Amino acid sequence: MSTAKIIDGKSFAADLRARVAEEISKIKQAHGLTPGLAVVLVGEDPASQVYVRNKAQQTKEAGMASFEHRLDVTTPEADLLALIETLNTDTTVHGILVQLPLPEHIDENKVLSAINPDKDVDGFHLMNVGRLWTGGESLVPCTPYGCLLMLKAELGDLTGKRALILGRSNIVGKPMAALLLQESCTVSIAHSRTEDLPARCREADILVAAVGRPLMVKSDWIKPGATVIDVGINRIDAPERGDGKTRLVGDVDFEGALSVAAAITPVPGGVGPMTIACLLRNTVVAACRQSALDAPDL
Ligand code: NDP
Repeated sequence: MSTAKIIDGKSFAADLRARVAEEISKIKQAHGLTPGLAVVLVGEDPASQVYVRNKAQQTKEAGMASFEHRLDVTTPEADLLALIETLNTDTTVHGILVQLPLPEHIDENKVLSAINPDKDVDGFHLMNVGRLWTGGESLVPCTPYGCLLMLKAELGDLTGKRALILGRSNIVGKPMAALLLQESCTVSIAHSRTEDLPARCREADILVAAVGRPLMVKSDWIKPGATVIDVGINRIDAPERGDGKTRLVGDVDFEGALSVAAAITPVPGGVGPMTIACLLRNTVVAACRQSALDAPDL
């Protein structure tokens, strides 16, 4: 029985971070420009705190300036909007990221729309969404961009491949579809109302699962020889590891998929590590564009 290649996201991410750091060093030397990323966290959500800490650490390691703004959970929306306006006009800040989710009293759409689209390194501003779908120069959401980089490295030219994206969220599914369409794939998007989902998945040369349902995609949903990208991160009970223990799994039955797919990303260690690396990439690209320099091809 053949075994799929396991796509090593950690190694891809380390490679991308190294290339980003190299570009930053060149830009600093040639132009005296230090790209800067501002991360704004409202409240004390434990998962968000970990993400923000990791982002700040990797930003500094890449040679960029990192600005952290931690606001109290009760911060009024107007104060957050005022901070974003300050960051929009601060010339040392080239990328702004507001960590989601925001507390309930704050309107997420209003906040994301307030970010200068040229500094919107998450790629969630409507202007960037529109530019992405119309083929303009945009900042692209980090998770799907990381998936695309891994797919291109594995498969080379994606032209004509049938891609199925499972999930239609604004942060993963839809931008992933736009990116694969740009690569001239034939793209389908499936969701909770899709009929005959296993059959639709079996048609795909490229299957991207971004659903948030542990181990949902079974081995017999996968076309033999397909490349599978598992975006899902789900925590499930793991009594085999001891009482009360848990473990992370993706949306795909990884063990089953190994005997059918040609290549697959693991969870953890697949898509996850690429997300922050792509955030650093977006910040360098944004800094170059804001300084009228050619953006590196990363
Ligand atoms: P959302 O909850 O926003 O979207 C989930 C999508 O899956 C929806 O489009 C939904 O369909 C669809 N769906 C849900 N259940 C089913 C089902 N039974 N059959 C078919 N489709 C279904 O999730 P996100 O896109 O934000 O995230 C998806 C997963 O990716 C999560 O596990 C998340 O943790 C992970 N993630 C990982 C990241 C990383 O860095 N690796 C970053 C971002 C997310 P419908 O629209 O019809 O409701």
